Amino acid sequence: MDVIIGAGVSGLTYANFTKNDYLVLEQDDHTGGLCNTIFQDGFVWDYSGHFFHFQDPRIAQFISERIDQSKLVKVDKHTQIRYKNRLIDFPFQKNIHQLPQQEFIDCLCDLFEKDEKQQPTFKGMLYAKFGKSIAEKFLIPYNSKLYATDLDKLDADAMGRFFPYADKEEIIRNFRQSKNDSYNGSFLYHKEGAIEYVHALERDLDANKIALNERVISIDTENHIVETNMRTIQYDHLISTIPFTRLLQISQIPYNQRVLTSNKVLVFNLGFDGRGFDTKNHWIYFPEKKYCFYRVGFYSNIIPLDRMSLYVEIGFNSNAAIDVGKMLARTLEDLRKAHIVNKERLASWHSVVMNPAYVHINRQGIDEVSRCKEELARHDIYSIGRYGSWNYSSIEDNMKEAIQLTLIL
Ligand SMILES: Cc1cc2nc3c(=O)[nH]c(=O)nc-3n(C[C@H](O)[C@H](O)[C@H](O)COP(=O)(O)OP(=O)(O)OC[C@H]3O[C@@H](n4cnc5c(N)ncnc54)[C@H](O)[C@@H]3O)c2cc1C
Repeated sequence: MDVIIGAGVSGLTYANFTKNDYLVLEQDDHTGGLCNTIFQDGFVWDYSGHFFHFQDPRIAQFISERIDQSKLVKVDKHTQIRYKNRLIDFPFQKNIHQLPQQEFIDCLCDLFEKDEKQQPTFKGMLYAKFGKSIAEKFLIPYNSKLYATDLDKLDADAMGRFFPYADKEEIIRNFRQSKNDSYNGSFLYHKEGAIEYVHALERDLDANKIALNERVISIDTENHIVETNMRTIQYDHLISTIPFTRLLQISQIPYNQRVLTSNKVLVFNLGFDGRGFDTKNHWIYFPEKKYCFYRVGFYSNIIPLDRMSLYVEIGFNSNAAIDVGKMLARTLEDLRKAHIVNKERLASWHSVVMNPAYVHINRQGIDEVSRCKEELARHDIYSIGRYGSWNYSSIEDNMKEAIQLTLIL
């Protein structure tokens, strides 16, 4: 039997596609993992904005056959950056002409005078590709807030296809004709939240094969046995979707902790008693330190609502202690500072910590993950998913990886 640890998107996709008998073990009392939705006081909130832009026609079809299409909305993305008390279009690097004149000149001159020598780190890559001013005004402060680490510790390609690259020619063409497309230029959202995608993945599964409230505590790799808070189970293959570092710990496999690091993200979902001024943006980026958050999203601008419904994301080092009450007060103060909240009053709120949320991708970490994965595979253990593979990926990527594994096992 295949034992699957975790009933998030990766675990449920594996269960859908495997030909083997299986059992899913999930520590929570619900499925979905990070792809989850909260219904509270008339507001619909995800763990953080989860939007979908399926590229693979097989995945798109699989989902569309299992989801209520009439409840899907297709949204053409509109996002901006709050920079020095003004809003400029995202991505920053393609919209420097919207900056005050002197700052625009600085960005443009640095773009032409940059030292393009290839750099191994993320920070070095930002200087080399965009020049000092664009790097220091937006790209470095914003990403440092998100990753909560020194960007010199990340690989140049840490964000892969999620990073909006643009060359000089594109940047200049954009001055006249705005073309701010990105990997998620338009996206799908379900009126009842991201959890509906999880329900689609559960539709054809036998509920008896998903054990909720069952946490895997340890793994005996030699004897193919998992111990949970309820029982011991023998497996043929073990498919783990839990964070890679935790899998290594409960399997007693030594690894280099210094190279497998990550941030965590505190998400506040906030519902207000009034509509608010911003009716256009789907989310806004905040590079400046005077705001505690790095991004604020507007559910109420995706599914129009007469009350403002926000998600707010704040990045922390994974070891940081978080005082949720204090952070909520600071968040509300900063939302007022940013003129997102004016006279509206908070009507309802919810918070969740996503830990890990963004792993710190670097060369040594990538090598350590492959070395440990090889060792795990010798014991018929396969680690998949955004945190299982310790990478930066979307739900579609997670589904593809899980399907790929079913073809091998
Ligand atoms: C801020 C943020 C925004 C995002 N936005 C998007 C988006 O817009 N679009 C998109 O496609 N993707 C988005 N993602 C990525 C997406 O959330 C992940 O790719 C996806 O949810 C990962 O699914 P998973 O099944 O691999 O892992 P998880 O969802 O983490 O599932 C792992 C499961 O394992 C369970 N578990 C852990 N330990 C144990 C244990 N010991 N025993 C039993 N069970 C255990 C957990 O409870 C969980 O249910 C976002 C991620 C973040 C952090």
